[in-house]
Amino acid sequence: MPNKKNYSQALQHPIFKVISQATAELQIDSYVIGGFVRDLLLERGEHKDIDIVAVGSGIELAKKVSSLLDHNPKVQIFKNYGTAMLHAYDMEIEFVGARKESYNLESRNPVVEDGTLEDDQDRRDFTINALALSLNENNYGELLDPFNGLEDLSTKLIRTPLDPDITYSDDPLRMMRAIRFATQLNFRIEPESLEAITRNKERIKIISGERIVVEINKILMSEKPSIGFALLHKTALLPIIMPQLTALEGIEEIEGQKHKDNFWHTLEVVDNISENTDNLWLRWAALLHDIGKAPTKKFHKKIGWTFHGHEFVGAKMVYKLFKHMKLPLNEKMKYVQKLVLMSSRPIVIADEKVTDSAVRRLVFDAGEEIEDLMTLCEADITTKNPKRFKKYHNNFKKVRIKLREVEERDHVRNFQPPVSGEEIMETFNLKPSREIGMIKDAIKEAILEGEIANDYDAARNYMLKKGEELGLKKA
Ligand code: ATP
Ligand code: MG
Repeated sequence: MPNKKNYSQALQHPIFKVISQATAELQIDSYVIGGFVRDLLLERGEHKDIDIVAVGSGIELAKKVSSLLDHNPKVQIFKNYGTAMLHAYDMEIEFVGARKESYNLESRNPVVEDGTLEDDQDRRDFTINALALSLNENNYGELLDPFNGLEDLSTKLIRTPLDPDITYSDDPLRMMRAIRFATQLNFRIEPESLEAITRNKERIKIISGERIVVEINKILMSEKPSIGFALLHKTALLPIIMPQLTALEGIEEIEGQKHKDNFWHTLEVVDNISENTDNLWLRWAALLHDIGKAPTKKFHKKIGWTFHGHEFVGAKMVYKLFKHMKLPLNEKMKYVQKLVLMSSRPIVIADEKVTDSAVRRLVFDAGEEIEDLMTLCEADITTKNPKRFKKYHNNFKKVRIKLREVEERDHVRNFQPPVSGEEIMETFNLKPSREIGMIKDAIKEAILEGEIANDYDAARNYMLKKGEELGLKKA
């Protein structure tokens, strides 16, 4: 039975009235479709981009809409795609003519021809994204839902309008989108769909790294990113797009000694950190913090499993992974590298006695990243033993208190040498030489060790003493 539900109340925003008027003037039909309608029905808060399908020319409709708006916003036209876009009321509105698509095997760019609204809904990725609301005068606000997407919204189901094997093979990016929506919305993917993704997984190779990253980032920014990574794992897409992560899977046992499964541990860490930060790159750092563990894993008869130097190896792998996935190779990458490299440092301190000098060195090395590093280490606590869980968290609390104390007293976060190289040269009448570096280093070490205060007088006295030890004469 066709669904005749009417949502004209939800389309009160003046922009819809304007589009409706433009549609009537051009004597065509138009509909709001896709994410805006989905999120409206889910009451997910306002969706900032609006997609309009015109049964006719999307470009003409956009121009008409612009002419009816007060400020006649600029219409951006993408001729190759037959689409147009404009900004109004702080929203981005995209217009496309209804189309019918057919695909060939080599690419995800289809052959396109004009079509009906139904043709256009057929080419949509999921039933919940094919929902359309009429902007036509005769049935304004009516929901057009040929695939029963409304029911899928209420049962929380990701399902393709057509045969999933064809949908995913035609455009393999949809596999990533299915998993991303399942994660963002906390929906199930229909079993046939999940099997089709698994069957078509190799097709993901025709999708560019940039597009895959867009979806991974959205998974990472979800409330519970592990949902997405578990699905990528289940469908076997993960070893194709991020083999470094799947390499962490599994528990090995030798002579009764086991190590934890670092893949599932990592997913827990990512979920944990997501409760405490919306910083995408900190979430990336959590995802990658243990990747060095696969290549560094060793078994020793006496001490069991070790992952020596995994932080260093992991930081190097971050660069390769970023490069391979077409992630930015800029300060974001360096930030992730730094956190991976330092990811065990606070743990070592918390395990042992929390000394001032260890904390000073930690702040000195971590700099501005110290807070984020602590957040990462706290998220890293995934033990199921409640006593240990509490103990580890308490230890980090102590580290945090110490951090504050040391920071207030010693100011080593953005360490500047209190005595400059020039001053050392002038004092001892030196030309540029090894001794200058040695003295500067000795001063820094003395401050970090707590032998002297981090101020000019203490550092100047220390310099004079060191100079003497090195047999230098004052000028
Ligand atoms: P979000 O904006 O949160 O990513 P969305 O559903 O609005 O979600 P968009 O990428 O903005 O996603 O796309 C708008 C609409 O275009 C979708 O709802 C869907 O109907 C359609 N669409 C987008 N990408 C595809 C695709 N790869 N295959 C089929 N339809 C797609
Ligand atoms: Mg959208």
